Amino acid sequence: MRRIRDLQSSHNRRNRLSKKVQEIEPSGIRKFFDLIIGRKDIISLGVGEPDFPVPWKIREEMIYALEKGYTSYTSNYGLYDLREAVAKYYKKFGVKSEPDNIIITTGVSEAIDLALRATINEGDSVLIPDPSYVSYKPLTILAGGNPILIPTLPDFKLNYEKISKYAKITSPKILIINYPANPTGISYRKKELEEIADAVIEYDLLVISDEIYAELTYSFNHVSIASLNGMEDRCIVMNGFSKAFAMTGLRVGYVIAPPDITSAMLKIHQYSMLCAPIVSQIGALEALKNAEDDLERMKAKYMRRRNFFVKKLRNFFDVLKPDGAFYVFPDIRNTRLSSEEFAEKLLMKKSVAVVPGNAFGECGEGHIRCSYAVSMDKLKEAINRIESFLKELNLI
Ligand code: PLP
Repeated sequence: MRRIRDLQSSHNRRNRLSKKVQEIEPSGIRKFFDLIIGRKDIISLGVGEPDFPVPWKIREEMIYALEKGYTSYTSNYGLYDLREAVAKYYKKFGVKSEPDNIIITTGVSEAIDLALRATINEGDSVLIPDPSYVSYKPLTILAGGNPILIPTLPDFKLNYEKISKYAKITSPKILIINYPANPTGISYRKKELEEIADAVIEYDLLVISDEIYAELTYSFNHVSIASLNGMEDRCIVMNGFSKAFAMTGLRVGYVIAPPDITSAMLKIHQYSMLCAPIVSQIGALEALKNAEDDLERMKAKYMRRRNFFVKKLRNFFDVLKPDGAFYVFPDIRNTRLSSEEFAEKLLMKKSVAVVPGNAFGECGEGHIRCSYAVSMDKLKEAINRIESFLKELNLI
């Protein structure tokens, strides 16, 4: 009897996981960072997380909310006032929207998942830039889609030719774009977006536009692709509070989409998430209404750090100057190490953590992602350690 039970349980274990889950890999970022948890000597340029606390006025609003006992569910869509504030705020990036086509989500992470699950039918192809943020490919697979990676080298940007080349052979349904981009920091000017929009219209695509770093654009003003002629009805735009307002742990973002897609996403959201946490939504409302000065303060610091860090890194590597976000993606091929070897050795020998570029796709190989969302002192120390690492290994 016991033997039968043993056999049965090993049999079940083989079959009990979904094939789709088995197909995806754990995040290359997390895998690396599990190695350093608890180590005090590390300078981490690894995680994409602001080093600033949530601005005090936002925290205060959330404390009051708790005091007043605001701990219930909200509407599935999210608080009306917050959606109204988002609609008003997004005009800044050229997009007209109504509270009814906005859903407040538990971060942009959920918005990406909703957009993909609401639009993909089994086997639909989804164009994804390579390299790009780690969740696009696995979430496409989980939604039943077929991820098609578009190599973006040498400038890490999409353009009409690159999209056409892959659209012609794969008949895709969706294009994902993210700008300013994680991991490269590139962004697009209006003219470049118009060229991308030409391809979108020609190949009849839907666009998932992840604009989470929109506020952290340093080189020019951010424009949403949804603001361009003919694009409004094709775009699912998402943004959130994690990066611009340093609210990562509060898990709040939003998605703006055409009415049919909003309704479809809402069905999934209401069953899987119900609503975003009410206290975080109240904090987000305060962020949009009153925290522009905090945002500008943090942005100015990121910009100074970017300028300093890029200049220093250029003593050792080829480095594209990032237009936005808080990442720089140096080309480390002159060291003849793979990106994983480089990141591992730098961590072991000098206690500086960076993310190997291949965590973001094959085209990220030969690069490392460094986040400059750390203090200037830490950046200076990181540069000293990188220099001494390269010298000790006779790499420079
Ligand atoms: N999209 C991009 C491009 C990101 O870099 C991140 C986080 O690093 C996210 C989405 C997830 O953001 P959220 O905290 O809003 O879920």
